[in-house]
Amino acid sequence: MDYHDFLADYPRTYLGRGSPDARRLALTFDDGPGRATPALLSALAELQVAATFFCTGEAARAQPALIERILREGHEIGNHSLSHADARSFGIEDWIAREIHPAAAALCDAGLSDAPRLFRPAYGEIAPGQVDALGRLGYTVVGWSVDPRDWLEPEAPGYVPCVVESVLARIHPGAIVLLHDGDDEHGRARHGIVEIVRRLVPALREQGYGFARVGEFLSADATSRRTNS
Ligand SMILES: [Zn+2]
Repeated sequence: MDYHDFLADYPRTYLGRGSPDARRLALTFDDGPGRATPALLSALAELQVAATFFCTGEAARAQPALIERILREGHEIGNHSLSHADARSFGIEDWIAREIHPAAAALCDAGLSDAPRLFRPAYGEIAPGQVDALGRLGYTVVGWSVDPRDWLEPEAPGYVPCVVESVLARIHPGAIVLLHDGDDEHGRARHGIVEIVRRLVPALREQGYGFARVGEFLSADATSRRTNS
């Protein structure tokens, strides 16, 4: 699935899913670090799962110790813009200068050793020219293939099992699963993510799935391109 049709025109710059050849998936957590992140990291460590976190520059500035912990515990960090602004409200150069570079700088200040190479657009919104510009900067734009809408109605009864079931119903080899650990736009913590992950990981392992960071999907792609050429 490419959530915007035009993204299919960017096979080198856009990644919406990993290879379907292996029963592997990537869990991705957006908008953090937030108040749910420490407990989520403890759960991932217990479950021995490495994941990918798409962090905003503002959250990284507010919680640099958590960026450092995410990295130390073997996870991967991508750029999710500085302020979670909708890219459609910016011209290309303005957006790069105000949202992309400052977020990368905030992540590096907080402990990322190399400039981030993965970018996920806030709200999934991005224009073709912005994808081109990120590609020229060396970024891969990362989408998702499974969206259980964990951001919707976290206070509703049955929220946790509903999100878990939604992932299990849609999972496929090479899936990139969209989840959230950052505080929501009203500043509320997303504590439900911890129980979601505690239920989801064993259920996925029971189906024979292993867990990859998104960057591992990219290197697997590069290897298969080399093998095929
Ligand atoms: Zn987001």
